[in-house]
Amino acid sequence: MKPTILLTRAWLLLLVALVVLTVAGCKRPQRLLSTDQEIELGREAGDDFEREHGRDRDQRRNEMLQRIEGRIENVAEPPDYPYDFRVLADDAVNAVAFPGGRIYFYRGLFEALAYDEDQLAWVGGHEAVHISRQHACRRIERSLGYELVIQLIFGKDTAGEIAGLVAGLVLQDYGRDNELEADRMGLEYTHAAGYDPTAALAVLEKFSEIQGEDPSDVELLFMTHPGNTTRSDAVKSYLRQRGWSGSYFRP
Ligand SMILES: [Zn+2]
Repeated sequence: MKPTILLTRAWLLLLVALVVLTVAGCKRPQRLLSTDQEIELGREAGDDFEREHGRDRDQRRNEMLQRIEGRIENVAEPPDYPYDFRVLADDAVNAVAFPGGRIYFYRGLFEALAYDEDQLAWVGGHEAVHISRQHACRRIERSLGYELVIQLIFGKDTAGEIAGLVAGLVLQDYGRDNELEADRMGLEYTHAAGYDPTAALAVLEKFSEIQGEDPSDVELLFMTHPGNTTRSDAVKSYLRQRGWSGSYFRP
């Protein structure tokens, strides 16, 4: 057994202990995962996910994304997470956030948004909120029920099972309230990072257009988000409230 596997098993056992304690009747609304565990879990699941889809190394896309990452991570709160934006070699129009800081932009998103950095930055901001507000992590904590605890204790391939579970969870949406919060806070992040927050409206319009043409082109994440009209209206009302204008909106 390789040392890395031993290490993984050690923290998995710790996780099991924490889950058992909680399932056993701990009523305090405390977090199951520490920040370090959350980061570790997200990294493992992200690595698996990346092996499956492949990473895109195109220079133009990667340079643009690194710039966006640098500016968003400076303003994301709390700044505990090591944000790591990567391009996935997949033509779907999507982006996905793993707990602890890893965010994947699908290659197809760059084409769909015509390499517009303001628009891509808002998507990055939206995903970063899922991480900073621990939407991703909380969903996993809620899903780690008693059955999984048993599986972890007696299962053979526990790390693989957890990573698979996490990848499955992050591909779902986080529920209407969390998605609208990610949209709103995403506007704050993009504005603070010096991008045009009104670009969010162009992104939502593009999603509607793509969904109208061929819904199968848009992956789960955006299909299951709250309706695009609701989202656009909420974004406009927030922009109005903040008095922000830009290329895509003037109050
Ligand atoms: Zn989202």
